[in-house]
Amino acid sequence: MKPLIAANWKMHGDMSWRDKPAEFDKIIPRANRQNIDVLICPPTPFIAPMVLPAKRTDIWLGAQNCHAEQSGAHTGEVSAGMLKSVGANFVIVGHSERRAGGETDAGIAAKAQAVLAEGLTPIICVGESLKQREAGQANDVVSAQLAASIPHNADMKAVIIAYEPIWAIGTGKTATPADIKTLHAHIRKIVGRATRILYGGSVKPANAHSILSTPNVNGALIGGASLDMQSLAEITQAVA
Ligand code: PEP
Repeated sequence: MKPLIAANWKMHGDMSWRDKPAEFDKIIPRANRQNIDVLICPPTPFIAPMVLPAKRTDIWLGAQNCHAEQSGAHTGEVSAGMLKSVGANFVIVGHSERRAGGETDAGIAAKAQAVLAEGLTPIICVGESLKQREAGQANDVVSAQLAASIPHNADMKAVIIAYEPIWAIGTGKTATPADIKTLHAHIRKIVGRATRILYGGSVKPANAHSILSTPNVNGALIGGASLDMQSLAEITQAVA
């Protein structure tokens, strides 16, 4: 299974960031990363201008969210089909920053279904809060999220899961390799062998090797450290 290194730029950057794929490619030329998929999910306005720079450097492009409907009276929203038409291949759905704003598992499943219907790959995010972890509920919370946010009858090869413990996102705290091993083994049992499972939560060059060499970790979803091409490249080089 090809590992995936996925950058979530969140609401950062400007038009000059369309040059970042070239900057990344100077550090690790594409010939040296044939066995790794690299994905950048920029803010939506930068997807179209990044299509050529990403294509030239063998980097995938994705979006950070979409609407579940194909079109309609949804001011400010963007559909999976629109993202496809500008050049996105992946869409992150159910990021904890969006779940915190009220997204439900059922809504996330509907978005993932819309993404799959366009032939794109949803990256479905799951993960427990600190309170849930401390109460010993991490496995159960993640099981429930997976059961309700993966569309029924989804081809599990076409779906990616990102396990992102909420307390580790943007905090500098990472789950221990033992915790990651336990949770990823738990997720593997639920999703089966065909699905890539990413870890996310304060991944950086210093911890990337130990995280990415943990069993059942098929890549990483990276926020803060993905904004700098040198650190994104070092994380990519850390793939076991
Ligand atoms: C994320 O936003 O998905 C994430 C993992 O962020 P960070 O790497 O900054 O913790």
